[in-house]
Amino acid sequence: MQLVMKFGGTSVGSAQAISETAALITNIQERWQDVVVVASAMGSKPVKVTDLLLDGASAAARGDVKTALQNAALLRQIHRDTISNLLTTEREAVLAENGAFIDHFESLCQAVAILGELSPRALDTIGGMGERMSVRILAAHLREQGHPAEAVDASELILTDSRYQNASPQMVQTAERTQARIRPLLAEGVIPVVTGFIGADASGVQTTLGRGGSDYSAAILGQVLDADEVWIWTDVDGVMTADPRLVQEAQSIPELSFREVSELAFYGARVLHPKTMRPCIENNIPLRIKNTFNPHHPGTVIVPHRTNPTGGIKAVTSVNELSLVTVEGKGMLGIPGIAARTFGAVAQTGHSVLLISQASSEQSICFATHSGHAFRVTEALKTEFAKELERRDIDAVRSQQPVSIVTVVGAGMQGMPGIAGRVFTALGDSGVNVIAIAQGSSECSISVVVEEREAGTAVQSIHNLITPVPVA
Ligand code: ADP
Ligand code: MG
Repeated sequence: MQLVMKFGGTSVGSAQAISETAALITNIQERWQDVVVVASAMGSKPVKVTDLLLDGASAAARGDVKTALQNAALLRQIHRDTISNLLTTEREAVLAENGAFIDHFESLCQAVAILGELSPRALDTIGGMGERMSVRILAAHLREQGHPAEAVDASELILTDSRYQNASPQMVQTAERTQARIRPLLAEGVIPVVTGFIGADASGVQTTLGRGGSDYSAAILGQVLDADEVWIWTDVDGVMTADPRLVQEAQSIPELSFREVSELAFYGARVLHPKTMRPCIENNIPLRIKNTFNPHHPGTVIVPHRTNPTGGIKAVTSVNELSLVTVEGKGMLGIPGIAARTFGAVAQTGHSVLLISQASSEQSICFATHSGHAFRVTEALKTEFAKELERRDIDAVRSQQPVSIVTVVGAGMQGMPGIAGRVFTALGDSGVNVIAIAQGSSECSISVVVEEREAGTAVQSIHNLITPVPVA
């Protein structure tokens, strides 16, 4: 039996966390035999290694070498403390290896500062360093505990295109390389500890896989190694009914369909990025989300399709820092193609739309976009509709911010009479004003736009409608 397991930043965030993670790995290896580990960069909250690397690089690009060097010093301290507290026989060797990465980070920042420019390619080289350090620590600790293990840079395994920052894997070559490198290790009982997040393009230049990258790495390896299951270990008991930082009573959801979890992830639940699940879903590889710090909890399993037997609300999520842009005017009724022109103009700006809602009278179209993009988007629309605005066919292009999207998720929910009513009653009873409404195309979500300051109340009041999962 073969299992690919990914450990998130907090699971390797300190000496203590790494030793718990290692114990978990060896425990599971006894049952599964073939275990492939994927690890993120150290990410104990609030200091995340990848953020320090990327912020340092951006500071350098602005000419602020001081901040870059401060970040390097902090990186050195975090890794040195962890290594010193964790390792014994391999301590000096791993300290030297990690130190070399941080020296290299410093030199790259100096170079970036001189050039005054930070290319996506340089960002990928710098941004992937955290994983290259953490896997070396984890593998060394496993060896010291008497379990053969080897750190592997995924740039040896995952071949990608050259779209830095958001590279896509080329699965055929990735399968060949991964099988050739990983299978012999497994055959000898060695645990491969692979860097998450990174790959390399055809010229061998390091790339990164974009948001949720390490989860994606695990799913890619799961597919090409034909794993029996993929487990994502994080710091919560699986996917929960709401962000546990916002809703104290949030509970773990035992089973979710791919659609449901995609909808949740798209609207703010960063626990799992939809793209990362695809290799598992398409190959029918069960995907579980589990808690490193509560390993006996079953967590959540993601299944390809499954109707929600009760049809009720399963989870609620929110995204903040959005603007609601409205194009409105009584004369719009008569003009063909307004919607197409609106979204064409938005697409030209390269910014994405999170939600669209149109009044049935066709007198207005509104959509949500990230606040940082609202100015460019509204300007683009004013240019597109200059004539209509002049003729007063369109009265205004406006934007309202800050707003949030609050999304209710549950398969089959839209077919259940009364669910939407209960949601709006709950919002009304809590005094939340709903600015716009939309239904997800996948028929398992309803989203509302509210003022950002009311988002917390909205999430909580909708969460109160979720029937608690019976305690087994
Ligand atoms: P990792 O470093 O392990 O990948 P992430 O920070 O990416 O961890 O994802 C886990 C975090 O996602 C949790 O700590 C939690 O704060 C947040 N989160 C947001 N919404 C949800 C949700 N609905 N269920 C579970 N976690 C959620
Ligand atoms: Mg994550």
